[in-house]
Amino acid sequence: MFIGHAAAALLGKRAAPRTSLGVLLAAATFLDLLWPVFLLLGWEHVRIAPGNTDFTPLDFVSYPISHSLLAVAGWSVAAGALYYAVTRYGFGAWTVGVLVLSHWVLDWITHRPDLPLWPGGPRVGLGMWHSVPLTMAVELLLFVVGLAVYLGTTRSRDAVGRWAFWGLMAFYLVVYVGNVAGPPPPNERALAWVALLAWLFPLWAWWADAHREVTPQLPETAYGSVKRATPDDG
Ligand SMILES: [Zn+2]
Repeated sequence: MFIGHAAAALLGKRAAPRTSLGVLLAAATFLDLLWPVFLLLGWEHVRIAPGNTDFTPLDFVSYPISHSLLAVAGWSVAAGALYYAVTRYGFGAWTVGVLVLSHWVLDWITHRPDLPLWPGGPRVGLGMWHSVPLTMAVELLLFVVGLAVYLGTTRSRDAVGRWAFWGLMAFYLVVYVGNVAGPPPPNERALAWVALLAWLFPLWAWWADAHREVTPQLPETAYGSVKRATPDDG
């Protein structure tokens, strides 16, 4: 899953409006940020095997540190705790933790049974990737819902807030279509280097989100502990 993870981050903005979309995106794609690093270190392995599923030529041979459920539970707690330690924003910390975990759940729906429950443990996966139309329909639907929710939660403060955000969304779709329609990567190393570009998305999102603000008419409950400007504040 690719834009489905971005959709989860966009939805997270509704739960934690004070948390930057960059942080939410880093959380929702955290496992895939770690993965190329572990590939390059030789700690995890992938094989290029066209036909492995209809959607992807990748055979995830071994990725126990980035993608086993047990490790992911650890990453989830660690990310939430770290975020809380830095910001003291409870809604944000819970959202970050849940987003890290959401990645595994979405991968579980899409991957064939290659996701270990723990390192060396049984492997699971529902295999939605065996159907390209189903995968694209589900991911695009999630993406559109996420987009609608994010746009209902924030509004642009300036041109950067508008165009950097829409540019990022368009770039996501272009990369997504390129992934589906493009040729398989030549080898594991090239794939890992390209996959490292995933680090750009949270940075880009952070930049765009910094030029947007939470829509004032949101119900109070959605703000968490956001301080709202009132006339009394002068
Ligand atoms: Zn993943």
